[in-house]
Amino acid sequence: MTIAERLGRPEILALPPCDIAGAPVAGTVRLDANENPFPPLISGQGGVNRYPEPQPAVLRQRLADLYGVAASRLWVARGSDDAIDLLIRAFCTAGRDTVAIVEPTFSAYAQFARVQGARVVSARLTDDLRFDASAVLALAKAERPKILFLCTPNNPTGTPVSGDEVRAIAAALPDTLVVADEAYGEFSNEPSVAGDVGVIPNLVVLKTLSKAYGLAGARIGCAIADESVIDFIARVAPPYPLPTPSIQAALGALGPERMPLHADRIARLLADRSRLANALRAAPDVRGVREGGNFLFLDVDDPADLARRMAAAAVRVRFRPKATPGGVRVTVGTDAENRALLAVFGIGEPGRPARRADLVRDTKETRIALSIDLDRTEPRRIDTGIPFYDHMLDQVAAHGGFSLVLACEGDLAIDPHHSVEDIAIALGTALRQALGDKRGIGRFGFALPMDETRAEVLVDLSGRPFARFEGDFATAAVGGLPTEMVPHVFRSIADSLGAAIHVRVEGDNDHHKVEGCFKAFGRALRSGLALEGDSNALPSTKGML
Ligand SMILES: *Cc1c(COP(=O)(O)O)cnc(C)c1O
Repeated sequence: MTIAERLGRPEILALPPCDIAGAPVAGTVRLDANENPFPPLISGQGGVNRYPEPQPAVLRQRLADLYGVAASRLWVARGSDDAIDLLIRAFCTAGRDTVAIVEPTFSAYAQFARVQGARVVSARLTDDLRFDASAVLALAKAERPKILFLCTPNNPTGTPVSGDEVRAIAAALPDTLVVADEAYGEFSNEPSVAGDVGVIPNLVVLKTLSKAYGLAGARIGCAIADESVIDFIARVAPPYPLPTPSIQAALGALGPERMPLHADRIARLLADRSRLANALRAAPDVRGVREGGNFLFLDVDDPADLARRMAAAAVRVRFRPKATPGGVRVTVGTDAENRALLAVFGIGEPGRPARRADLVRDTKETRIALSIDLDRTEPRRIDTGIPFYDHMLDQVAAHGGFSLVLACEGDLAIDPHHSVEDIAIALGTALRQALGDKRGIGRFGFALPMDETRAEVLVDLSGRPFARFEGDFATAAVGGLPTEMVPHVFRSIADSLGAAIHVRVEGDNDHHKVEGCFKAFGRALRSGLALEGDSNALPSTKGML
């Protein structure tokens, strides 16, 4: 007997699957679903006049790859909230079955259980908010719940449950679905237990794109479970649960060229989390600060007073008095949002706004994601698909003194042209965005390097595009980068950055000459981007740039 046959609701087992129109097949005449044949009257949303695939195969496979599991063990849900609801409805008979939770925790487990008419029993974290596996096991042995929810790291306390603890608990409770909710797993040092699904038949893992991947509004999450559990979930799911625009948003955001940016953002949120935690530890009315997920859990002296001050500053946080009397959950936000939070605690942060930009640029030929920070020198991770171009852009960032995470999926099989040009446009655009109002910058830059080659690059971040390239190359390409594209790169950057860029190069060796141009450009940028003494001054007698 499968785990689902043993534990699932018998009436669901007896229920035939939903009778719905088949998934779309290209080339077939679709008159089976009472859809409207005309395209919808909204731009950019082709296809929404048709019902979506019940389980979109491409997204399902993408998520399976992302989490390192077989697609047959993954159910794409309308957010992991939906997966929680589906599991409870498929496995808990109203008035008879029990759901176990470990309080304080995410409220949806108990909420959906009660909606379904299931009994809710709970263990608690220890007084100092640690996970106590023996207390959880004792509760489960006594109450024999159909489902036990373990949230790791836990919302709202940040408490981790180790993989070993999850596995040991699942092994000790063969008649309970043990659900590890890894909504914040990407922010945790604990490795996912998704790989144990199937090996441990009663283990279920929940994942979501809402937190680490920034898609809360798209409502995409998933359950990873034994195939029999997935089939069982399908029986209680509505026929077409996933909106087409959400499927497209998820596939777009999970493109391979997006992944370095996601990793960079997660790293940034974690760095900001610890910076915020350290600042708040010094605040007089804060007794304790815990870190977990993309949030902090504070214990404050006077939550009522803090609530008044938060309201006055129009900063919303979650008060969690059931967790601890002074419990407050605070999400890590943008720099400006974090500053607003700290200000409520009387902590002022010095310095000017961060000079950084995240940018995605998609065309039929290229998909580019890039992140730039003018006040940070790391990380530099560049993947254009053209190794020599990677090397050149790395030189620009290294000599320019800024961080650059850049990835591109382009039509290199046809020609490097589109990738080379579109990346240059994206880089110039991101530099311009990161420069913001340009207050405090040096504006002009120049350099005169190197070897037998002499490359001279003059840059003026004037806002007015102009490009001049003097020099020529004897060979058609260097390391896969067509030399005819080199002047074009500087023109594209000049146009999108809004800068005057003059390049002059002479020498014998084309490799040196190309490299010289990029290095000198980086050097020239460095002095142009650098902040000088007066952070408010615009380096222009016109008063604008
Ligand atoms: C936010 C959250 C979820 C919900 O995720 P969705 O995919 O947006 O529904 C699930 N579990 C926990 C613990 C959460 O904090």
